[in-house]
Amino acid sequence: MTKYIFVTGGVLSGVGKGITAASIGAVLQAKGITVSVQKCDPYLNVDAGLLNPREHGECFVTKDGAETDLDLGHYERFLDLELTQKNATLSGRLFRDLINDERAGKFGGQTVQLVPHLTNSIKKAIHQAAEGEVHLVEIGGTVGDYEGLSFIEAIRGFALDVGRENCLFVHVVYVPFLEASQEYKTKPAQNALADLRGFGIMPDVVAVRTEGHNKPPRSIGEKIAISSGVRSDGIVMMPNVDTVYEVPLTVARDLGATLSNFTGNIVEPNLDKWRKLARRDTTEYKKRVTIGLVAKYIDNSDTYLSVTEALKSAAWGEKSEIEIRWINAETAEVADFAGVDGVVVPGGFGERGVEGMILAAEYCMTNNKPYLGICLGLQTAVIAAARLGGVKNANSEEFGAGDGANVIYIMDGQEGKQSTGGTMRLGDYPAVLKNYSHIAQLYGVTEVTERHRHRYEVNQKFVQAVKKGGLIVSGTSPDGRLVEFVEAPACDYFVATQAHPEFKSRPFRPHPLFVGLIRASLAE
Ligand code: GLN
Repeated sequence: MTKYIFVTGGVLSGVGKGITAASIGAVLQAKGITVSVQKCDPYLNVDAGLLNPREHGECFVTKDGAETDLDLGHYERFLDLELTQKNATLSGRLFRDLINDERAGKFGGQTVQLVPHLTNSIKKAIHQAAEGEVHLVEIGGTVGDYEGLSFIEAIRGFALDVGRENCLFVHVVYVPFLEASQEYKTKPAQNALADLRGFGIMPDVVAVRTEGHNKPPRSIGEKIAISSGVRSDGIVMMPNVDTVYEVPLTVARDLGATLSNFTGNIVEPNLDKWRKLARRDTTEYKKRVTIGLVAKYIDNSDTYLSVTEALKSAAWGEKSEIEIRWINAETAEVADFAGVDGVVVPGGFGERGVEGMILAAEYCMTNNKPYLGICLGLQTAVIAAARLGGVKNANSEEFGAGDGANVIYIMDGQEGKQSTGGTMRLGDYPAVLKNYSHIAQLYGVTEVTERHRHRYEVNQKFVQAVKKGGLIVSGTSPDGRLVEFVEAPACDYFVATQAHPEFKSRPFRPHPLFVGLIRASLAE
């Protein structure tokens, strides 16, 4: 019988429901329990593909091409799972399906309503995604938001359907600290818990997020326990941490007994690997590496979350600490690239900042500086090489060159879809790597599969000029039509991929292209 853990939030969003859910999952796995996980987002969007990354952070892509919230990335990294569309449930998708069914006459004349029709769709989506012995469900936003009410009602009813004893409700609240009076204030959390009770849910666990690295006094937890009716062993205190990979240790410390009682599994979780990752011994991690991330959105680091996590994991795997230096693509100069050990140009859309990224590629290619290009970072590298190879006006069709030098272009079938949702090359695609290429050496195999999210492709009409400029194609789609990987043979480490390898990197299994970059950068 599957058990369910529901994670909701109160007071404000963005304080770490996703990390909390992922960490609970990690602790359960460390007890030998299989887990599955799902994010429900009450937005009226159908997927996260058209959401602004500056506001919402990275759009995470699953192997089956679902464009999702960045929490799915936390889940994949913490739990080492590969998730799919069914793990990301958005209101817009459920509404769209309901309305399509209504139009198709599937309701036999009934009035179609939020309760029970939408709530039933939510329950069904949860059942469909539940695969593990324990299924974790995170509800986006905060309890009380208008748009989230159907989800709260659905999980309340779900618990009745499957048995309340098979469900654990976790509410993540924020407790502010007032500088002036030097005290924590629990009132907003108490109100948030009262709101949740008002919707018929009595939580079993309250996760108390606080600012600063110090654990607040236990009395704060006690106060929340007493005022909310939650047992004091159901309170987990969650101050800020240096790395999110420490949170499983926090969860195990404060919630160990609760999770054992709930699952009936009393095995002590083996958290050695998390401890090793979170508390890196400074005597061992002596080396330092500085990687420049050439980016357009430098005021929200969540925009490139999977890239920064992949870089950190790769650096830690090499027993080194990493500084990620943000290089503003719009103002980037040669000195910015010269001042770092290695450069990453990550994915992106639109013209803004592109010349800075092309400059980054040109600098790295001509100065033997380690470079990893990801998606747009491959395209800018190809443009840089084409220009070096004599095609002076080389550009991408995305940036409106329009005079025959579109070395990056829209392939047949993609025209006219520039601003519509779900029309990109999305999800897993296989690639065949050239024998003896640097890329093949890095992967250790010649057939790979990586996730994609882009519209434009390398125009193979220009490969000779690109080669003259110093860049060769080292991997393509199996039919040879699509360029998937390029590399600069004259450089120690200059590789780029049309895919997004960061999505498949894991804290305990960093991706080979990131490992290669870090190794080459450490040698700088
Ligand atoms: N804008 C480019 C394209 O659509 C690159 C996309 C990306 O980097 N994810 O092809």
